[in-house]
Amino acid sequence: MSVKHLKIELERLSFDGRGCKDVLRKRLKAYERSRILSEACIEDPNMGHQHYTHIVVIDFEATCEEHQTKDYIHEIIEFPAVLIRVSDAARVGEFHSLVRPVLNPTLSDFCRQLTGIEQSDVDAAPTFPEVLNSFESWLTQQGVGAMPTRDFRHGGHGSSGSSESGDVAAPRAQTSPTRIEALHSEALGKFSVVTDGPWDMARFLLMQCSVSELPFPSWARSWINLRKVFSNFYITKRLCLSEMLTALGIEFVGRPHCGLDDARNIAAIAEVLLRDGALPRVNETIAHLPHSMPPSFKLDVHLSHYSIH
Ligand code: AMP
Ligand code: MG
Repeated sequence: MSVKHLKIELERLSFDGRGCKDVLRKRLKAYERSRILSEACIEDPNMGHQHYTHIVVIDFEATCEEHQTKDYIHEIIEFPAVLIRVSDAARVGEFHSLVRPVLNPTLSDFCRQLTGIEQSDVDAAPTFPEVLNSFESWLTQQGVGAMPTRDFRHGGHGSSGSSESGDVAAPRAQTSPTRIEALHSEALGKFSVVTDGPWDMARFLLMQCSVSELPFPSWARSWINLRKVFSNFYITKRLCLSEMLTALGIEFVGRPHCGLDDARNIAAIAEVLLRDGALPRVNETIAHLPHSMPPSFKLDVHLSHYSIH
């Protein structure tokens, strides 16, 4: 079927007629599949694999240099999140905070120009342990309940491990696997993080937790890399954020490399995927957290693929 005929057929069915041929073809195919299952009174077998009710799109911005060395230590300077309910692909909340870096408190000209973040903005912002605590409280208020980042050695609740408090937390890899796994699945039971690529969790957050001497949050150990979901679902090559938007016939809204705008645009892609019948599943996991996380470490990211049919 040509693009023109696909568009006509989708619009006749009151579906979104925007996007490239791969997208339109998959949208129509997904509709046909669900119609056939429904007429046969068969529940979609994919639905049984859905373990969470919400997805949380996160896109960190971090300190950077134009010509940075391989062991450059990034610190998170913007922490945005967009909360989406999976059942109806509705955007139900947003979290946003700038973050004050402590190792390199002065932003480079390159970083300010790239991200649009001003020095005075980060100077007035809270540090990362405070922001992580606010984020986890926000998730709890939203009813999706992140397990707070805590120091398991003391069995304490709430935020801990701040270097400012002098209470340095143990990395979670050193604590009881049974307890961690229980908390991990509890956290993943309600939401899963969605990112554009692996680096928000596997690089920026891991590095930041090392700098802040915080245990790595259980909810961040596994996540959904939207690029993989997109290419598996629409059967395309792996595309970057702007290319995925173009393939869907959507324009980028806002300023690229502004964390909140990036997160909102990634959320827009996730919403289309959900509406088209994709059930994004966790497809990346940090296999081994380093026992002690030195400022410079080699990341060991185990990447597993989950095809969505
Ligand atoms: P993004 O989500 O693409 O805006 O990038 C996240 C972070 O990656 C930025 O805040 C920077 O720290 C870093 N980054 C992105 N692009 C570049 C670049 N061209 N050079 C150096 N660092 C970059
Ligand atoms: Mg960004």
